Formats: sequence, structure tokens, C-alpha cells
Amino acid sequence: DKHGVPEECIVLGNGSTEILQMGVQACMNPQLRLVSPTPTYEDVFEYTEPHPWVDVRGVPLLPDFSHDLSGMEEATRNSPDPVLVYVCNPNNPTGSLTPVADVVSWIERAGDHVHFLVDEAYFEFVDDPGYYSLDRMATENPNVVVARTFSKVYGMAGMRLGYAVTHPDTARLLRSFACGPNANHLALVAGLAALQDPDWVDFSVSRNLESRRMAYAVLEELGLEYIPSHTNFVMHRISGDLRQYIERMSDAGIRVGRPFPPMLEYNRCSFGLAEEMERFAETLRDFRRRGWV
Ligand code: PLP
Repeated sequence: DKHGVPEECIVLGNGSTEILQMGVQACMNPQLRLVSPTPTYEDVFEYTEPHPWVDVRGVPLLPDFSHDLSGMEEATRNSPDPVLVYVCNPNNPTGSLTPVADVVSWIERAGDHVHFLVDEAYFEFVDDPGYYSLDRMATENPNVVVARTFSKVYGMAGMRLGYAVTHPDTARLLRSFACGPNANHLALVAGLAALQDPDWVDFSVSRNLESRRMAYAVLEELGLEYIPSHTNFVMHRISGDLRQYIERMSDAGIRVGRPFPPMLEYNRCSFGLAEEMERFAETLRDFRRRGWV
């Protein structure tokens, strides 16, 4: 609570994916509409799949890869029933930002039936001066849930610990969809230790920056266009067949990202340590020599 968010506004999750799941379940209704950018992190779409009646509206990203907030707002119109809006900022898989101030003004004018699930999984990696968390707003607005995670900057993906920040009433509602004591003891101990080690975030962010620069350097060297990233991965052009590229990378011992239709001319590469990025760079140069990218 050192950031001033009261305990009653926090909901723990088995990773932030459980928060996304609770967010979908808490809004579930025979008339539910889901409005989401596309492409984005698929989990929210997937949690609606057991409820095939949900009216899912994916709104393509803008040419600068930010969310098309006007298009999304338009897609929430003409519904007296609940609408769930997923905002992923920065966005996975593009690593791009959507102006927070524009999200805030939309939330402020949105009707009571519009619920916002704001995914800030990559929050710590962003260094844009206009970017900030919607956590404060979420504690005061029952229609806003912010999802955060220990999986990214803290490197604790396998421990499965995430949390929501939201209004106490919404927090109670979300918890009712949780799997009982969903955060295991080991993850909680590790999470507390992580919060008590502020140097770790700086260390992790600076390592990530170094790896990001290495990825940019090889992509620029090979003339493969990329989307400037605010996360720990980069989406870049591959000039070739995506499935084949993924398979060839895998044969070279490197697991790169899955396809994110309709962006099939791009691949997402997650950053590793400097030596791993060096290997990625060498592999990509080798692919170029073979005419594969
Ligand atoms: N949200 C986004 C945007 C992600 O990219 C991910 C993981 O890739 C998650 C949520 C889920 O992470 P976790 O459940 O490990 O917290």
C-alpha cells in the first residue's frame, strides 16, 4: 500500500489473466457486448468463448498502432445493455501506446453501462512522459478495473501473481469470481520481496532497454521495419511466410511469438538477455544470407 491504494481496492489473481477472466465473468450477461482493439492480447476474447452469444466487436488498431478510441467508442453505442471495453496499454503484440488522456476523457463521458478493463501488464517499461496508470481513477470509478502483473518486469511469470486495482464494490464483485485462495503462498512471499526491492525494477528495465536496442540495431541493419516498443518485445516485419519463419527460428533454438492475424507480415520477438539477443541477431543475419527474410 505504499502507493496509497487501499487494500480493499486490490484483488489478487493467479496471474493477471485471472483478473481478466474475473472481469469478463463479472460483466457476463445474455446481452453482453465486448469491444476490444484488434490485434491485442487474446485472453479477453477467449474468456467469452464459452458464452458464444457475446457480441464481440474487434476494432482494428489505427495506422500508428494505437487503439482506435473513437471507433471503439462508436462500437459501444446503441446498447442499453452492459458493454465491456478492453484497453491494453501498452498493447500486446504491437508494443504501442494509446494516449492515456484520451482514454480518461472517454471514461469520463461514457454511460454507466460501459465497463473498462484496462490491462497495464507492461506499465513499468513505459518511459513516455504522457503515460500514467489509471489505478487512481479505478479506485474511484466502479466501472474501471486496472489489471497489473508480476509476470513481466519482475520476471515472475511462472509464479502466477497478478492483481486488479478497482473500486471496493467492484473488488468485492471480482473476488466472488476468484478461485478461492487463488494466489499461492510462495507467489505472495516472492511478490512482497519483489515490492521491497525497488532496485530490481530499474535493473530489469535497463536490461530490457539494452536488449531492445540490440533488437532495433539488427532490424535496422537488415532493413526490417519495426514498431517502436514500450514493452519487453518488438513487432517487426519478416518479409516471408510467417509460419515458416516461426518454424525456422524454432529449428535454430529460438522461440519467437505466435501469429497475430491480420498482421501476418510481422512477428513479435520477446527480449531476452544480451547474449540471447546476440544469438537472435546472428540467426536473423543468417536467415538473410539464405534469403529467408
Ligand atoms: N496481459 C497482457 C497484455 C499480457 O501480455 C499478458 C501476458 O503475456 C498477460 C496479461 C497475462 O500475464 P499473467 O497472467 O502472467 O499476469
